[in-house]
Parts: sequence; structure tokens; C-alpha cells
Amino acid sequence: MIDPWSSAIIDYEKLIQQFGIKPFEEFKKEIKNTHILMKRNIIFGHRDYGRIAKAMREGKEFAVVSGMMPSGKMHIGHKMVVDQLIWYQKKGADIYIPIADMEAYSARGIDFEESRKLAIDEYITSYIALGLDFEKENISIYLQSENQIIGDLAYILAKRVNFNEMRAIYGFSGSTNLAHMYVPLIQVADILHPQIKECGGPKPTVVPVGPDQDPHIRLTRDIAERFKNRYGFITPSSTYHRFITGLTGDKMSSSKPKTAIFLSDSPETVEKKIKSAKSGGRESLEEQRESGGVPEECTVYELLQYHLVEPDKELEELYHDCKNGNIMCGECKMKAAAMMKKFFEKFSKKRKKVKEKALKLLDR
Ligand code: SF4
Repeated sequence: MIDPWSSAIIDYEKLIQQFGIKPFEEFKKEIKNTHILMKRNIIFGHRDYGRIAKAMREGKEFAVVSGMMPSGKMHIGHKMVVDQLIWYQKKGADIYIPIADMEAYSARGIDFEESRKLAIDEYITSYIALGLDFEKENISIYLQSENQIIGDLAYILAKRVNFNEMRAIYGFSGSTNLAHMYVPLIQVADILHPQIKECGGPKPTVVPVGPDQDPHIRLTRDIAERFKNRYGFITPSSTYHRFITGLTGDKMSSSKPKTAIFLSDSPETVEKKIKSAKSGGRESLEEQRESGGVPEECTVYELLQYHLVEPDKELEELYHDCKNGNIMCGECKMKAAAMMKKFFEKFSKKRKKVKEKALKLLDR
């Protein structure tokens, strides 16, 4: 069982074998201007992505739903989702961004006002500064607690789900509070509502998620089938991306500052964090020259791969230089830290500039 509210590390292979997630590989050639996360196998799996690839190929309407739970600071791992949204926006998708304040309340005990503030300060400000365009018509952002369509739809959908099913998916017990038990239905409504009449009717919809969110996807797909006659739902698709490893080698987490690069960190803090991050280097320089480093186990390499080095050739060279012992960790970290610092110098300025815009967005 996968618990979407815990921070356990996921076994990707097991996930593919046990839960029927398909490898993403087949779409890498089919899609034009493939996203870098797809090309580099960071997006590794999917359910029914064929419908989305077809919609993009034929220039047909499709939607992307990607929620955020404002329960702490936004870190660089969360940036991956925004990068995908920007890519989908360029491909002509309708973008829906639910702010999961009801989930933050029921699962983390964060009240609605605090969630709103976190959503604006930490998330929306960074989304805009990263380049997601909220001026476009086909983008919608909302707080779950303030969206009547979502509340009504969740209630209707809940009629055909029972406790045994929720227990089997989420492991709920007799002591789980009812708000926590109900909130997955709100998420199901988030994912399905782009397909109701008021939002333009049935259309292929994709949800890019980390694999820990797969229980919500499975529940949504089952419920979509049950309500096909009533709403004409097309079963939603999903993609799964690997989590970025934390700077200490554990999972990157907002609640563990040492593991994470926060998008609100200063350029100097980011530089320092990278210089002291866990690498895949050997015990001594001599050993590293002889045996090479292990980029597969290096958090710095992941940052370069996920966020910093765009040209494939450059990344490949770095990989081989590391493997062959041609580059030492000290030098490599300096390079990565300088690149990240440069990115944050620009990004921090942008964040300050767009703060007002972010505030206004939830007033609409
Ligand atoms: Fe990581 Fe770079 Fe050291 Fe290789 S040389 S292990 S990529 S820090």
C-alpha cells in the first residue's frame, strides 16, 4: 500500500510491476520537443498517456490538473511540476491548479487562512516567477475550500464509494477522522471537474504526479468509470516522475531544511547548501582518480540532471568525466553551486517583482 501522506522512499520498479504503471519510454520519440524530464527518464511511467499524446499531435483540446498542498515551503523538487505545467501550457493545454487547503487542513492540521498565505508566498509567487503565464485564458487556480463546483461534485461522487474501498486504498481505520477520509473525494473532483459541462465537457486530462499520489489516481479512474453514463468522463491519464533526492541523501522534504533547496532561499544560501551536499565521490582524491565517482548516487549530479544542465551532450560529458575520475567532487560542486547561484540571483528578483500579481490571483 502507498500512503500519499507519508514521506517514505518509493521503489519505482515495484510500482511498475505491482500497480500496472506503464514505462513512459514509448512516448519519448512520439512527442515533439519532448520535455527534458521525459528525455532523461525522470518522468518514468504513465497511465493511458496515449490519449494525451494523440490530443497534442492532433491539436485537440486537453487538460492538465496539478494541485499543490500548501503545508510548508516550496522546494526545488516541487519545481519539476511547474516545469511540466509550463511545457503543457505551450502545447495548448487547459491548466487547472487546485490549492489543496482542505487536504492541508485534514491531513496536516493547517487552517485555511494559513494555507492561503502559504499558497501565495511560497507557491504562486514561484509559479509565476518560473514562467507559468496566469494571464492566459485557459488557466484556472482556486482554493478547494472556496470552489462550490468542487464541493458539489465531490459530494455527488461520494455516493458511489464506500468505507471498505477507502480502507483498502488508503489504509484508513476506525480512528481516522472523517475530514481526512473525505478529502480524497475532493481531489477526485479536482481531477474530474474539467470534464463537466460548465468547464467545456469531456476531454482527455492528464495529472502529472509523484508516485506517492498514485492512490488518488487509481481512485479517480475507478470513479470516472462509475460516472461515465452521467458525465461522459474520459478516464484521466497520469504521468509519474522520480523524486529528487535530498541534499543529505534522504528524501527532499519541506519539513527537513537540511535536505532541501527552498525556492525562497537566497542565492548565497543555495550556494552553501550545494557545496556541502552529499556527493557520489570516493573517500580520497587518489581513489576517485583511479575508480571514478558514482553519479548515480550523487545528489549534486541529480541537480545538474534535473535542473541545471540543458544540453544533453554537456551532461553526458560530465557523467563520463565523473565515472572516469577526470573531475573531482570539489570542482564539480563549485560548478554546480555557481550555476544554481546564478539561477537564484535572477529568480529571487523575479519573485519579488511578481508578489503583487500572486496576491491578486486569489482575489479573482
Ligand atoms: Fe557527483 Fe560531481 Fe562528485 Fe561525480 S564528480 S560524484 S557528479 S559531485
